[in-house]
Amino acid sequence: MKYFDRYAKIVYSIGEKGVIMERDASVLLNKVAAYNILAVEIVKKAYLYACEKHKNQYRESGEAYITHPLAVATILAEIHADMATICAGLLHDTLEDTKTSEEELLNLFGPEITNLVKGVTNITNMNFYDKTTFNNANLRKVLVGMSKDIRIIIIKLADRIHNMRTLEYKKDIRKQQLKSQETIKIYAPIAEQLGLYGLKLELEDLSFMYLNPDGYKEIRDLRLKWQDASTIKDEIIANISRVLNDNYIFSTIKFRMKNLYGIYKNLMNGTSIDNIHDLFIFNIILDNIDNCYLALKYIHELYKPNPIFFKDYIAQPKPNHYESLHTTVFGPDDKLMQMQIRTPEMEQMARYGITYYWHQDVDYASIIMQDAFNKQYPLMQSILVANKSAKSNADFVQIVEEDVLGEKIPIYNNKGELTEIAQGSTPIDYAYLNFSRVANHLAAVIVNGVAVNFDYVIKPYDKIRIITDINAPGPTKEWLEIAKTATAKQKIKEYLKSKGHGLTRSPW
Ligand code: MN
Repeated sequence: MKYFDRYAKIVYSIGEKGVIMERDASVLLNKVAAYNILAVEIVKKAYLYACEKHKNQYRESGEAYITHPLAVATILAEIHADMATICAGLLHDTLEDTKTSEEELLNLFGPEITNLVKGVTNITNMNFYDKTTFNNANLRKVLVGMSKDIRIIIIKLADRIHNMRTLEYKKDIRKQQLKSQETIKIYAPIAEQLGLYGLKLELEDLSFMYLNPDGYKEIRDLRLKWQDASTIKDEIIANISRVLNDNYIFSTIKFRMKNLYGIYKNLMNGTSIDNIHDLFIFNIILDNIDNCYLALKYIHELYKPNPIFFKDYIAQPKPNHYESLHTTVFGPDDKLMQMQIRTPEMEQMARYGITYYWHQDVDYASIIMQDAFNKQYPLMQSILVANKSAKSNADFVQIVEEDVLGEKIPIYNNKGELTEIAQGSTPIDYAYLNFSRVANHLAAVIVNGVAVNFDYVIKPYDKIRIITDINAPGPTKEWLEIAKTATAKQKIKEYLKSKGHGLTRSPW
């Protein structure tokens, strides 16, 4: 084997340690071998190379540094990442933290892997006067870079997961807080918008644990108390399987509790624990879509549904492509139970999100994935809009944090399609976020068939239609007060400035 010969020298030079290290990588190599046997040799080569580069480097935990890139690559292998992504996961800190040149990576691993490593690497050779400025610039680079290669952000997410899992070893408490804040505000919502729910829930709970340790413990204990009602859970699973079986519908049923941060948010919004409609979650997996609707019927015959919480995400998938039927029913003792009914394909989409394509047996999965991401996920368009309108890196991060990744509510657009908008938005925000070229000519707004004022606060499931008129008077200073999103405010300021609307005394 060509690689083995070339890298036998490295194994040899690490000596005894190299042999141990090779064994350490066995978990990763076995995971990769299970779905992509052809990738094993080059992954091994990247691993040995990273071992050599990071030797004598240690993490704050005292462990050899290589354990970090190895863990990142293993997380990526769990979502069946392609060969280049796994290798880039192993090499992701070489450019930044070791004496490694781009040319060296290029020669040894080729342009695809090198570009991924570059995309993930911080912009170290630029001068920043503080960590925040640096972070903002870096984040902008990584987020805008997604339009070229979405795998960059997926590697970043795996990197963040491992850093959060090992955050307890970070000695600087302030850094712990900053990392957790960035994770909960930026990385967890990105994971959600990419449909990677597993990563999202874990990132949220890990951040929550560091940001509010007392709240975390309190809710963990509270959830444990409710979870003890697990005999109910077994009874419900048994009842549903029996009814479905009697009707020749075969199902797999899984149970989980809502994540801690999710419960915390509900409690903070004034919902009491017994009124959280999805505290208990049952995943009911059926072999085809027809059976999903049939199962819904049988479940509703068994347990009375609460109609407020019914959602048909099969007829109208979420913007991140999530599909399922959601119904909340009254279980024993009138306890609310959420049923998520879906096919195995939908289950895969719910777990792996955009990386779902890696699980399909298709050639060029990454190219198909990139194409889907650029054309079918609103995230990239919003980030590009933010990139265009932001005057500085700090501006960019603020817009992304608030408008793109902040809390969202579902709404229907002009075409009647289900989409989302930042919570608290007004029609002015809607106009600037969706029709930036004509928003300055906003003349009237129709919500659910009725004309409303511009300061109307958009509610979940509103159907919004805007009417523009070339002769409309255009934005005024009041619009700035009404607009909620940074994007709209930015555009209104620009307009007012261009018209010289007496803004000279203002701080802008
Ligand atoms: Mn890293």
